[in-house]
Amino acid sequence: MSRKEHSSILIIYTGGTIGMIQNAETGALESFNFDHLLKHVPELKQLNINIDAITFDPPIDSSDMEPELWSRIVSIIEENYDSYDGFVILHGTDTMSFTASALSFMLEDLMKPVVLTGSQLPIGALRTDGKENLITAIEIAAAKNAEGHPMVPEVCVFFHENLMRGNRTTKINSESFGAFGSNNYPNLAKAGTDIQFFTRNIRKYVPGLKLKAHHEYNSNIVIFSLFPGIQQEVVEKLLGAKELKGIIFRTYGAGNAPQKKWLIDALSKATAEGKIIINITQCAGGSVHMERYETGLQLLEAGVISGKDSTVEAALTKLMYLLGKDLPIEEVRRRMSISFAGEISV
Ligand code: ASP
Repeated sequence: MSRKEHSSILIIYTGGTIGMIQNAETGALESFNFDHLLKHVPELKQLNINIDAITFDPPIDSSDMEPELWSRIVSIIEENYDSYDGFVILHGTDTMSFTASALSFMLEDLMKPVVLTGSQLPIGALRTDGKENLITAIEIAAAKNAEGHPMVPEVCVFFHENLMRGNRTTKINSESFGAFGSNNYPNLAKAGTDIQFFTRNIRKYVPGLKLKAHHEYNSNIVIFSLFPGIQQEVVEKLLGAKELKGIIFRTYGAGNAPQKKWLIDALSKATAEGKIIINITQCAGGSVHMERYETGLQLLEAGVISGKDSTVEAALTKLMYLLGKDLPIEEVRRRMSISFAGEISV
């Protein structure tokens, strides 16, 4: 790994705990501005990297993240793509995996690092994890190999020592510093005394590829989770909703559902109406295999598509992205089954 003398990194500060400060009256954490954040990390000056920043005004708690704001981030990266070696996005942890997944589809043929990070404790707090996360994310975004190409030309999440493919991550813990997991894909790098890159897990750099930025999306989608005792009327109303275009269907185990005729009929009717239903397991790891059990096979016959080993975040944002393109239904179905940005193992 090498780093040329003055790499240039653009930080996009969207908000999140990393830059928050405690309201003296209510005790609640509220967003603060980027200068405040930098004041707490004087170490950045030692990095020998040019750092510029663009701040959301006002910074947001990531619970308020919306697809329009993903599109704003995409525009910032698009407009600044040729001027920087890499991008670091400071983001709240709550919806970071949704944003990382969405960006991996909206930034097609990305050949520069886009590293999302944040923290569990504000950067001004004594035991903050924010400093480590921020400094290492910047180092990773600036890292080049011997040929001078970026080490990690893809959208990723850096948190608590681990660099993960962004569209494989899920927030797994609301308190631990290890807030993110990537159960179905190995890490891209590990930061200990050195940063160790696992190049075989990282997307290959392809010279000459030009970034294609996408801004369209359709969020008429719902996440629908099975549970024992689920009621017919509720499911029929939900799946029958006129505006609904897509369903992330959270099933049991390897992609199984109860053998209730009304449920299979409701699913078949929805797919016949052109609604796209993606089967994602409720398990934290592993893949959907609908052909394995009778309880899965019936879903395949109802027109349900396997989400394979995708996270909910990746399946949801990919479907939003594809539905935004006004493609024929068959084409959306086909594209949901292939990998766009390493989000599923095929
Ligand atoms: N609520 C915060 C957010 O997602 C939590 C965090 O940043 O860790 O913006």
